[in-house]
Amino acid sequence: MAAVGASGGDTVDLAGAQRYAADWAGAVRRLGFVPLSAAETEQLLLRHTLRLAEVLLSADAPEPAAQEVGRSLVDAHLAEPGVVEWSVRTLGERFRSDVLAAGRPELDTRIAAIQAGLAAGFARALRERTFVQQEGIARAMWQARDDAEQALRDSEARFRAVFDGAAIGIGLAEVDGTIIDVNSAFADMLGYSVEELRQLDVASLFHPDDAAGMWELYQELIEGKHDAVRVEKRYYRKDGSAVWTDLAVSLIRHDDGRPRFTVAVVEDITERYALQQRLRFQALHDPLTGLPNRTLFFDRLASLVEQPDPPGRVGVCFLDLDGFKTINDSLGHALGDQLLVMIARRLADCVAEQGYLVARMGGDEFVILVDGVAAIQDVIAVAESALAAVAAPVCVGDQQLAVSASIGIVDSEVAGTSVAELMKAADASLYWAKAEGRDRWAVYDPERSARDNARSALAAGLPAALDRGEFVLHYQPIVSLLDGRMLAVEALVRWQHPELGLIGPDRFIGLAEETGLIVRLGEWVLRQACRDAQRWHTDFPDAGLVVSVNLAARQADRPAIVDTVADALASSGLPAELLQLELTESAVMGSAGEPLRTLHRLAALGVRLAVDDFGTGYSNLAYLRRLPITCLKLAGPFVEGIRGAEPADADHRDERIVDALVRLAHALELWVTAEAVETEAQAQRLRALRCDTAQGRLFAPPGPAETIVARLRDPKLGRASC
Ligand code: C2E
Ligand code: MG
Ligand code: MG
Repeated sequence: MAAVGASGGDTVDLAGAQRYAADWAGAVRRLGFVPLSAAETEQLLLRHTLRLAEVLLSADAPEPAAQEVGRSLVDAHLAEPGVVEWSVRTLGERFRSDVLAAGRPELDTRIAAIQAGLAAGFARALRERTFVQQEGIARAMWQARDDAEQALRDSEARFRAVFDGAAIGIGLAEVDGTIIDVNSAFADMLGYSVEELRQLDVASLFHPDDAAGMWELYQELIEGKHDAVRVEKRYYRKDGSAVWTDLAVSLIRHDDGRPRFTVAVVEDITERYALQQRLRFQALHDPLTGLPNRTLFFDRLASLVEQPDPPGRVGVCFLDLDGFKTINDSLGHALGDQLLVMIARRLADCVAEQGYLVARMGGDEFVILVDGVAAIQDVIAVAESALAAVAAPVCVGDQQLAVSASIGIVDSEVAGTSVAELMKAADASLYWAKAEGRDRWAVYDPERSARDNARSALAAGLPAALDRGEFVLHYQPIVSLLDGRMLAVEALVRWQHPELGLIGPDRFIGLAEETGLIVRLGEWVLRQACRDAQRWHTDFPDAGLVVSVNLAARQADRPAIVDTVADALASSGLPAELLQLELTESAVMGSAGEPLRTLHRLAALGVRLAVDDFGTGYSNLAYLRRLPITCLKLAGPFVEGIRGAEPADADHRDERIVDALVRLAHALELWVTAEAVETEAQAQRLRALRCDTAQGRLFAPPGPAETIVARLRDPKLGRASC
């Protein structure tokens, strides 16, 4: 495929452009007289095709260039109405797919702008050309009339010839509005005889829909303030039908400059006007559903919110069908289209009474513009009726379908006063409605959005932070409840964020799990913890200090974890029995098949396996027996419930649970570690309940590796508080 570059790295398919230009030229030659050779026509239209492709791909507003192209069609005398209709329609239907090397459906809005620009440029150039011709006629007539005063008979005959023979309507009137004369072209245009029309006066030709200011302009003309006025005007025919005209009225003055009479030159432009209207409709409506399209919706929304003194509060319901892709794929696109048409009709019907604008944004997305809102409840009510309209069973082909939708709701008072802000907010709240389970609405909340944005910014920064080495490990001692000796340490990761300071794992581990980065991050933690632990082991071999590393479910699920752990041990030199891996209860309990084999292979390496936060999930106790685990870590909330020292109103439920769990663990020959031990009283109760080890601020908060070295060095420190 020959492709030529355009700005932004996008390309134009040159062969496609040539084919497009050839078709265009063929259509132009078919549709009317063309004063150029076939090759010249094709060359000209190829230039236009490439120009339009270039502006489509550029960042510039496309209208001016499209208008130039429309104008140059008229300049080249390719001015048949069929030509512009073909050109505009084909631009919409095939230009993007024929001429661009890549599809780029998002450029459709720009295509619509190009269509509108081309039609406007064409119409304007045509009108200007007609005006120049009309001016010529008016001058010739004036000249003719003038001559008539000099050489009466001769010129009268000449004037009559111009007047009666002109294909364009001409009328002469006194400045008081009395019609002096009209030619038969004018009379025919309005369906009167010349005689009948001569009986009327200018005022009787007024039309109730004449553009505001038109008759004031006429008034100023006959007062001599202008020499000519030019308007598009509608006349009633004698039979009551309407005719659109391009009307140019010139003022003829006496020698001393006083207004004398007016000459009106009138061209019937009904067909061209209808074409323009049709093109305007096409540019602003969705061809499938007939609903207003996004361009019209954005224009309307902008006119409501983006003005210095907005007329009032506006709501937007941004609706997206749930699972439409699946419906489309399973039913086929033809039935998918039928479904969209039906949904469009229902949405339009459900707000028809209030007159709100319903538009199709594209694909399965629709919007409802709720203007004149008093309270957000008004917009919610519209969203609910839209959801109900979508939910009624739909029959397409011979299938009955249940369709649902999700709606993001925004309110201009909360979400901002620019179209871009409102649509961004609508998009965010639609996302919430989808994430919360679909078939519902969600209202935009700026605080939630700010939290989402902060979360996304953190998530986006994670990979680079890992590459830049911004993560650090803190370690928290796990001590024996019998003698207070530090038996192990838990590695707890932190992010030394360049702007936000030290961030705890609760703020980023979840994100890393969602994005999958946890696998790389977890491997870094594992290797770093093994290296630190090996150093301690070398320096304090008698301590036998175990390092306990958290494994996320996504890490534990992957069979490759076994090789990673083996390699972390081998490359650090840490003996396997000095490494403990903490798995969450759900990761352990959910394991069957391959994951269970993975646990056994990990255990076979000689490392210990612990169940973290035990008691917060739904453990199947019988199943626990079959797992190769060595330790249960009791979740913090149970320990929190142990108040110790027997206060009179103590609720002993947590204590009884801990008691039962410890007995169970011991029956299964497992160690028990209590987490989050904060008070001496808790430590005492746990000791009485025969819990083996404990971890918590009472003994030591998590701290940098040096704090562990200090403890190892000073055995008294190692036994603090116990
Ligand atoms: P966890 O594994 O249950 O870690 C214990 C948490 O309890 C730690 O929170 C610790 O700082 C906190 N803690 C320590 N002493 C006390 C206390 O006396 N009272 C209370 N209430 N809490 C105490 P941290 O460091 O914020 O870690 C939170 C969680 O983040 C960890 O819970 C773990 O699930 C996760 N996490 C931390 N590091 C990693 C990691 O490297 N990989 C994975 N997958 N998860 C990690
Ligand atoms: Mg843990
Ligand atoms: Mg824990």
